[in-house]
Amino acid sequence: MNHTVNAQSGVQLSLVVPMFNEVLALDIFFSRCEAALRELGDSYEIVCVNDGSRDGTLEKLLEYRRRDPRIKVVNLSRNFGQEPALCAGLSLCRGQAVVPMDCDLQDPPELILQLIARWREGFDIVYAVRSGRQGESLPKRLTSNWFWRIYNLLADVPVVSNIGIFRLMSRRVVDTVNRLPESKRHLRSLFNYVGYPATQVSYTRPPRSAGTTKYRYWQLWNLALDELTSFSTMPLRVWSYIGLMVSGSAFFYAIYRVLRKLIWGSDTPGYESLIVAILFMGGIQLITLGVLGEYIGRIFSEVKRRPTFIIESAHGFDPADTDAGAHSSAAGHGPATV
Ligand code: UDP
Ligand code: MG
Repeated sequence: MNHTVNAQSGVQLSLVVPMFNEVLALDIFFSRCEAALRELGDSYEIVCVNDGSRDGTLEKLLEYRRRDPRIKVVNLSRNFGQEPALCAGLSLCRGQAVVPMDCDLQDPPELILQLIARWREGFDIVYAVRSGRQGESLPKRLTSNWFWRIYNLLADVPVVSNIGIFRLMSRRVVDTVNRLPESKRHLRSLFNYVGYPATQVSYTRPPRSAGTTKYRYWQLWNLALDELTSFSTMPLRVWSYIGLMVSGSAFFYAIYRVLRKLIWGSDTPGYESLIVAILFMGGIQLITLGVLGEYIGRIFSEVKRRPTFIIESAHGFDPADTDAGAHSSAAGHGPATV
């Protein structure tokens, strides 16, 4: 495994942090990181991705950067969402070990040294597993729990339960993820898909340090659908079996009706059975169309091959690295697709 210091940049560890309207959380975030990572000296960088904030986050980040060159700033041209913002950071960071995390301190920086210790033992991925989640509402914990259970039933590669984006990844894992071709990127399942030797460290997830959550329930629902449809075709295929079952039972039911008529003659006009059959089949057909629509919509957005993110400006990076992204014509996730 390649644990040597990167000769060009000297960066051993990169934190990649997407930020959307997080001005209130910045002071405490940087001071906690600074304290937790003091023993690493200059061998780490914090890649902050400003995801179209409108509250002065960018200005504050640039001010921090002037004081501490280890803080690097990527400024996206608008709000793209947490995952595209993370992708932008992942494509520009240079560390041999990379830790994507939130800036609201729900992913405690104090855990990073433990992650690094396990990485040095030779693991490529060290998951930070949540053994408890304080300050998150019961419905959110329950829905997230159930979603991942269903995901694991359907998806080809199951994911470790109770993890988020927070984990340590080796350079080769990050390079592999950056080279994957899709432009809609669902990181939990993508990270999972690439494999490599993994281990875990557990922690209790604290409540948000400042500000409020940037997700609404509707967005979480969409995120869940995206994750599921990008890594399972089960919802598409299951309808052939359901159709088979429905028409199979309809066939036997028809035989039963004919026999009944022959033996006892007709007693009722058959209105109920007709209407039930029509409504039931109509419902199934609409659901099937809906599922097709979900997938076709995603195929449509994928074939357009638009970049995952567009970088407006980058501060603290090699100009050669940021050029492609800054002009954005290149797909935004790494040289493989330029
Ligand atoms: N975030 C982002 N863009 C968005 C939404 C969120 O960059 O459109 C960032 C946000 O600033 C934070 C992280 O993603 O650093 C996680 O968001 P949040 O804490 O609101 O999510 P939660 O922990 O409530 O799921
Ligand atoms: Mg949070």
